Amino acid sequence: MTILLGAVADDSTGATGLANTLVGRGMRCVQVIGVPQDDLDLGDAEAVVVALKSRTAPVAEAVAESLAAARWLRAQGARQIFFKYCSTFDSTAKGNIGPVADALQSELESDFALVCPAFPAAGRQVFQGHLFVVGELLSDSPMKDHPLTPMRDSSLVRLMQAQSTRRVGLVPQNVVAQGPEATRAAFEALRDRGVAYGVVDAICDADLEAIGRAAAEQALITGGSGVALGLPDNFRRAGLLGAPTVPEAPRVEGRAAVIAGSCSVATRGQIAEVQGRWPCHKLDAHRIAAGEAVVEAALDWFAAQDPAKPLLVYASSDPGEVAEVQAAYGRDRAGEMIETAFGRIAQGMVEAGVRRLIVAGGETSGAVVAALGVRALRIGPEIDPGVPWTESLGAPRLALALKSGNFGAADFFSKAFGLLG
Ligand code: ADP
Repeated sequence: MTILLGAVADDSTGATGLANTLVGRGMRCVQVIGVPQDDLDLGDAEAVVVALKSRTAPVAEAVAESLAAARWLRAQGARQIFFKYCSTFDSTAKGNIGPVADALQSELESDFALVCPAFPAAGRQVFQGHLFVVGELLSDSPMKDHPLTPMRDSSLVRLMQAQSTRRVGLVPQNVVAQGPEATRAAFEALRDRGVAYGVVDAICDADLEAIGRAAAEQALITGGSGVALGLPDNFRRAGLLGAPTVPEAPRVEGRAAVIAGSCSVATRGQIAEVQGRWPCHKLDAHRIAAGEAVVEAALDWFAAQDPAKPLLVYASSDPGEVAEVQAAYGRDRAGEMIETAFGRIAQGMVEAGVRRLIVAGGETSGAVVAALGVRALRIGPEIDPGVPWTESLGAPRLALALKSGNFGAADFFSKAFGLLG
């Protein structure tokens, strides 16, 4: 069986969010971790999302891995390639979104691709090319203080133009609101003017449906998960995809744990919600940097807890504490050393019987799944908008919820474990 849609995502929680959107529209979906191996069994997947860890990688590495993933997906039959980045357009001035999109356009011989990170269900809207996060401009939102990719400009046209060698234009919301035909005509008008990217406004799901439909024939689509809403129906209309399917929750027995490396407002709220009710253990960045046995201490603590109760290990701190840690060790090194510690803690916890694991934070999730050797995930039912339960395809079988920092309601952790029964 060949797949229909192939996606390349720049981090693992973003990949899961996209896969979740496709599953919500009735497509069977598998998420693959890292550039896939030839021998991977995709089962009956109709869409495959390759999760890279390229959001903060050096540009050349991000480009090479994205191209390798796209080539592999096309070899599996993918008729359309989706380049998925964060709904807050997380990137640095040097990239990586622009350079990766440029390389994919060349690879796919595309001369136009849309740019649309909007995801209204999670409060991300694009209007006049400006990105809003829960009602605030991106540059006023908590993303201005992100540990790895602080966002200080809200104009997607400007951000994309700074990163790409090709021209960037805008398709405004009053055009999108007229529907797929008008939107497609606007794409063609931009292409005719030599504009290679159209930043497309979207303030509601109806806009995203119209954009998705308008992009049915495009070899490459770039954006957040939201713009994928309309894609499964494109394949149905073309007679390539059957009736929608409903995913099952993972059926995995074992201990339950949360690892939180995100310092986002949402994750810090979710941590506060379980503090006092669940056993919680905080990692100290200074002790990690000093080479102390922080991982061993966390695992000793874990071993002493009641195995019947979920528990939490976290490094998440407020912006003041993050700034102090970064000033001491550098932004990247601080992030990496904490991620490495979490990877080893996750390994130890799984060896000791954890089978139900939530990870909060995009980079943190990437580090944890890599440390656990997880290669592919079947996407299950949604917990909160953008975050599904997943089940690892290899051994040991794990129920995993990989959450982008800012996602999920305050009670996300308990709600998620509650869904597993
Ligand atoms: P999000 O999804 O919120 O962006 P990520 O996991 O992608 O979360 O990024 C958060 C980064 O912050 C990670 O690299 C993590 O290791 C780092 N981090 C976590 N806690 C701290 C801290 N106390 N000080 C500095 N950096 C931290």
